[in-house]
Order: sequence, then C-alpha cells, then structure tokens
Amino acid sequence: MFFFRLFFCCCRRRNISEDTWTTSNEITKRTKNSSRKGPSDLKKENDSQGSRKIVTTPTRTTINPVTLFPSSELLDRNKEKAQAHISCKNEWEDVKFLGVGAYGYVRLLRNVKTEEFLAVKEVKCKSSSSKELIESIIHSQLDHRNVIRLFFWRKFGQTLFMYLEYASGGSLGDLKGALAEDDALRYFEQLREGVDFLHSRGAVHRDIKPDNLLLTEDGVLKITDLGLCSIFVWRGVQVPLRGFVGTEHYMAPEIFTSRSYRGPPVDMWACGVVLFNMLTAGLPWSRALTCHNNYVLWVHRRKKIFTRKLWDKLEGLSSLSLLKRLLVVDPSERDSNWHQLRRQENRHH
Ligand code: AMP
Repeated sequence: MFFFRLFFCCCRRRNISEDTWTTSNEITKRTKNSSRKGPSDLKKENDSQGSRKIVTTPTRTTINPVTLFPSSELLDRNKEKAQAHISCKNEWEDVKFLGVGAYGYVRLLRNVKTEEFLAVKEVKCKSSSSKELIESIIHSQLDHRNVIRLFFWRKFGQTLFMYLEYASGGSLGDLKGALAEDDALRYFEQLREGVDFLHSRGAVHRDIKPDNLLLTEDGVLKITDLGLCSIFVWRGVQVPLRGFVGTEHYMAPEIFTSRSYRGPPVDMWACGVVLFNMLTAGLPWSRALTCHNNYVLWVHRRKKIFTRKLWDKLEGLSSLSLLKRLLVVDPSERDSNWHQLRRQENRHH
C-alpha cells in the first residue's frame, strides 16, 4: 500500500512516467569495491571482463560523527527503530572507507561506547523528489534478514546520508574462484529469500549481481544497493517497466529490447547469472544478445556449449536444471515467482 502511494505521489508531483524517477535511461554501470574513489568526475573505464563501467575519482568530504546525529527530532520516520538499534547518539567515530558505488561512497562508523557498527552511504541528491530519496524511502520500509537494513536517512543540503546495517564479510563478488555447489546453493537460497521478499512488497531490484550481495561475518547474504529499484505493482496490477537498466552481464534479454517488461522476471534472470557465476567463477555471456555466441548456443540449447571450458563445470550438477528455469529467454515462460520455481524443483528431485 505504501509503495502505491509513493508511486502515485512521485508521478503526480513530477508529472513523469514510472521509470523516470527510478533510473536514468542509460545503463548504470557500477564500480567494484575500488578504494579511494568518490562520487564526482565520472569517467569511463574498462573492467577485466571488458565491460564499460563508470568509475569515479575521489572527493572525500570529512564526515563529522557529531554532526551526523545532532538531534533526535531530525531522524526520519524510522526514528524509534533506529534509536532502539543505535542506542547512543553523538558517539560515533569514522573508522574507514568501505567502498564506492555509482552514486556515492560508503564509510564505516563505530559507536565508541557500544562498539556497534554502521555503514553510512553518502549520496549527492539535488531535489526533494530525486531517485536517491525515493530509494531511501522504499529501502527503509524493507525489513528482512537477507536485505541490508536501512535504519534511517537524513538529508543535509544536497547530501543524503543513509545509515545502513554493516556487513563485514565483503561481497559475493569478492569471493575468489568457483564455489562448491553446496555453498553456492546455500547463498542462492538466501538470495532467493531476499528477492522473494522484495517482490512480495511490490519492489523489483533490477541490479542483482555479486557486488550487490554483501555477506556478514557468519555468511548471511544481504541484498544491497536499491538504487535501481522500482515498483512493479500498482493497485494490484502489474506495472510494465521501461528503461535500459542494470549491469550488462546480468541484464535479462527483454531489457535490451525497446519494449516494456515485467518486474520480477528480470530479477530471476539476474539470480540465474549470479548462480552461474558462483558455480564457475565466470560469466555466461557479456550480454544476452544474439550477437554473442555463447548466448546463442544457450538459447538454442546446443550441446556444444558444454564443450566450452566454463560450461564444462556445470555438467552433471543438479543446479543445471535450476539454471535452465531461471535463464529462460521468454520472460512469460520464465518462472516469475519463487514458489512456482520451488514446486518445480521439488517435482524434479
Ligand atoms: P553501493 O554504493 O551500495 O554500491 O556500495 C559501494 C560499496 O560499499 C559496496 O561495493 C560495498 O563494498 C560497500 N558497502 C556498501 N554498503 C555496505 C554495507 N552496508 N556494509 C559494508 N560494506 C558496504
């Protein structure tokens, strides 16, 4: 219900389509955990897999822990939850730089008395209806074990501070090499829980990838970075999405068309690519486009694909059937809800 109202207000206020406030019309390429980079001075760079990324150069501003929590009345609507979790104000020290995303950078704060940690994401945010604010409003409503908690957020001038649960184990993207199938499926199960929760709240993530899957010290997976998140249900009716949005390797084929697409199936596709990545330490194709050989082989289910080194690793694995149901080209045939997927899996075993 909240999402409906939010969606309606945003569209009415700015007289714009659903997609305009959730994202720009270009692919948002995210940087990895590259250190010492800040949000300004965008420039293009190639990563190791040859995809274009937008990376940023440093403009670190000093975060004064005292000014972060000046008075309780400035805390947002999550005030009570935030205060329950963060038991003391004004006692936070800036510990270290954690990473940079497409829109801002993240630092670690520690409470000197309680030893609690918080990650604070600092984002430039021009207007009061900017998508970063909307991301915060959506994110702060989401409370699930497998989604990074946004405790609260505040805006100082043109800077938005998002106070997030800290995940100390890095991201899935930091893990080196292929994972054993059991480990991959354990992470996948948590990913599935988190994505299922988002979908049940009417939100689609649209940038599921290993870098956006953080881990706690004890191996709990947490979905983060809802910057490209969108609402896909409006008064109980599916809202078609538009926009060339996501990270190339993980984008479903329908996103590359100029047509509108449904929300949940694009996350399901991305989850399939994440599973592939965990099992092989590689990526199945650079883009789900018919000009890419491996993709064409996959679409036509050619056996030949399994003679390729990376795909070899999948042969004989039980997860292959799961992959086949997630990486279905036609979104209407792709399992778009997890219960359906689970039912089919059970039938399979
Ligand atoms: P983002 O802007 O969300 O893409 O975050 C940029 C980087 O900061 C991520 O790749 C993570 O390495 C790090 N980071 C973001 N949020 C957290 C968090 N809650 N806990 C730990 N590290 C984080």
